[in-house]
Amino acid sequence: MTTSYRNIPSVEKLLSDERICRLVDEYSHEAVVYLVRRRLDEVRQGITDGEESPSLDDLAEGIVTRAASLWSPWPRSVINATGVILHTNLGRAPLSRESTEALLNAARGYTNLELDLKDGVRGSRQAHIESILCQLTGAEASLVVNNNASAVLLGLSAIANEKEVIVSRGEAVEIGGGFRIPDVLRQSGATLTEVGTTNRTYLTDYKGAITQDTGALLKVHSSNFLISGFTHDTAIGELVELGVRHQVSVLHDLGSGCLLETARFGLAHEPTVQESVAAGVDLTFFSGDKLLGGPQAGIIVGKKETISLLARHPLARAVRIDKLSLAALTTTLLHYIRGEALDKVPVWRMVSMPIEELEATAHRWQKDVGDRGQVIRGLSTIGGGSLPGETLPTWLLALTQGGSLPGGANGLTSRLREAEMPVIARIEEDRVVIDPRTVLPGEEDALVASLKNALEK
Ligand SMILES: *Cc1c(COP(=O)(O)O)cnc(C)c1O
Repeated sequence: MTTSYRNIPSVEKLLSDERICRLVDEYSHEAVVYLVRRRLDEVRQGITDGEESPSLDDLAEGIVTRAASLWSPWPRSVINATGVILHTNLGRAPLSRESTEALLNAARGYTNLELDLKDGVRGSRQAHIESILCQLTGAEASLVVNNNASAVLLGLSAIANEKEVIVSRGEAVEIGGGFRIPDVLRQSGATLTEVGTTNRTYLTDYKGAITQDTGALLKVHSSNFLISGFTHDTAIGELVELGVRHQVSVLHDLGSGCLLETARFGLAHEPTVQESVAAGVDLTFFSGDKLLGGPQAGIIVGKKETISLLARHPLARAVRIDKLSLAALTTTLLHYIRGEALDKVPVWRMVSMPIEELEATAHRWQKDVGDRGQVIRGLSTIGGGSLPGETLPTWLLALTQGGSLPGGANGLTSRLREAEMPVIARIEEDRVVIDPRTVLPGEEDALVASLKNALEK
């Protein structure tokens, strides 16, 4: 058999196809040639592997489809109908309208990021947000970096390089995404001294481990798992007393960075940043995009002297916060200053959403999908490695597809994911459920359209 290599169209032939010409108009000659060449390389490889050469039509169509998916903006917007407020796969905290505008504003033009407008000299990108963070948390000083993992790395590198850091065995854990406390410690040049047992660590355990080489006592808030039953945890205040007595720094990785009392909403008490600062901790670390409800950031608050050690460390430049996040974070913090966080910060609006509102919303959507939907009670979660095991009562729209559609509940969730406006839902007892808590205002019409479409297919 003659090889079908000869049947492969030339680059020129494809470029003269009407569909490919339109692509050239939309993008550029160079970009399209790149894609055509890559596709033809694949066809050649396919023939080597014994496949048939595709037709010119198929090739052109394939290239058009690939261009549309390859050269599209990313990430795409999706609707979070999972009821998981801080969904790591969906980018954690959505920003308030005001924070989004601040971010856009900083992105669009020039700003006084590092310019003192009064004196015309170089300023610090940290100064403005520092005074706000100090007001909100009671701390003496702050430093904002790229994310909390880098905040902890910077803190340990500046304080405990070539020293021992004492951590409870129950807290030398993996936080998520491969971020392991023992690894970060090693990376910072510190050595880990684990004390206590997985379930019980006492003050005397820490005390017995302090040596001349101890650089810090580190407490890590176990934010993504629960140890329950026969447990003992040393309070941060006790650690501070011990640290003061032995002149050893006390560092507190809080994870979430909660500024408000979660118990008000029927949740467990999440330790707040204010409590950590009030206990007298040298440095407290937390994320910008967990319960704080802002952009990705790592926030360090604490003692002035210690913070300035961090600010001068070479790593500080490597983990520097960017201007867009800084703008969004500042505006997020201003919601707390104004006492409007529950209304304005999406994460807190979701946490504090009245049950009646959730029920009314679920019923509204039920009317849209008719007898394929049923309103049932359910539970939302916080997610994002915050308040593990804690739930908030909610109302769900449970979808049934009359048994006629292929793929069952899994088929339906995948059609929802692949909708023009993707909807991410979860499955409960073989039914797809939609939780109104995490669907943002303004997404309702698109959600209903995606639901109807996916149910009808
Ligand atoms: C989430 C978390 C981190 C990592 O924070 P990022 O902002 O994701 O880098 C570190 N420590 C704890 C305890 C956490 O919960």
